[in-house]
Amino acid sequence: MAALDKAQVIGVIGAGAMGAGIAQVAAQAGHSVKLYDNREGAAAVAIELVQKQLNRLVERKKFTAEQVKAILSNLQVAETLGEVSQAGLVVEAIVENVDVKQTVFSELEAICSPECIFASNTSSISITRLSAGMLHPERFVGMHFFNPAPIMKLVEVVSGLVTREDVAQTTYETAAAWGKMPVYAASTPGFIVNRVARPFYAESLRLKQEQVADCATLDALIRHAGGFRMGAFELTDLIGHDVNYAVTCSVFDSYYGDFRFQPSLLQKDLVDAGYLGRKTGAGFYSYK
Ligand code: NAD
Repeated sequence: MAALDKAQVIGVIGAGAMGAGIAQVAAQAGHSVKLYDNREGAAAVAIELVQKQLNRLVERKKFTAEQVKAILSNLQVAETLGEVSQAGLVVEAIVENVDVKQTVFSELEAICSPECIFASNTSSISITRLSAGMLHPERFVGMHFFNPAPIMKLVEVVSGLVTREDVAQTTYETAAAWGKMPVYAASTPGFIVNRVARPFYAESLRLKQEQVADCATLDALIRHAGGFRMGAFELTDLIGHDVNYAVTCSVFDSYYGDFRFQPSLLQKDLVDAGYLGRKTGAGFYSYK
């Protein structure tokens, strides 16, 4: 099974941290990309941010100005969801909420061709559950990028119970053609990475809650002794506590309250206070 042809348009729904990054990756690979967000102006702001980041890479000689111009010409704002109707692949990266995601996909089913692949960047929600009720659940797949999407190589290609094999294969080959390192996974809550890594982070949060050590010490330990690129506190500050807390709750519920995945009250406090991490200037650490 081959990757999607470069002539195929890619629709990206949600222009937050992940959607903007995924749109950049697809545009860099030569696809024409339509980026849609239901928050007015959000997609345009996201493209401006991508532009700033790419310009920095020109200064650091990672790209030429011509390459950046070509990438940016591939990136377009979709003012309405209807503008992604010509896409061969739609990647959804909106809020981690089953109902909201299902509503968007049912709207997409009404406008896209039955051959279009529907992919969700969900971190934790069952692909089988998300596709339930769709007219064509067999063309639905998880395409789980990691943050920041233009830099992180790993992509989990997640098959639900009824995902067609060729759909997963095309998604896998497309991720590879985009310079990523895809892996296949069956749809289980948290897939592979969030399942394996989450208990490490949960334990760090418990240690912090019990005042055993401070965030910097615990992060350093996870990095140096555990071999992770980031510790729990710096990583969740990067992910965004609203997003991470929602993912933890979803994994916890999906495993019927398994203690290993129990959400942290410390993190809930941060969400309640609006201390969402880097994006708001403060989380476990201050970024002001
Ligand atoms: P975000 O909050 O930064 O962005 C979400 C965007 O979706 C917002 O701009 C919002 O306006 C938009 N949106 C919400 N509802 C919408 C709708 N109905 N239609 C169109 N746009 C809508 O979130 P994020 O961090 O980019 O995460 C998005 C998804 O990616 C979530 O499912 C999350 O679990 C997953 N994910 C996040 C990370 C991470 O590190 N942040 C990593 C991997 C996967």
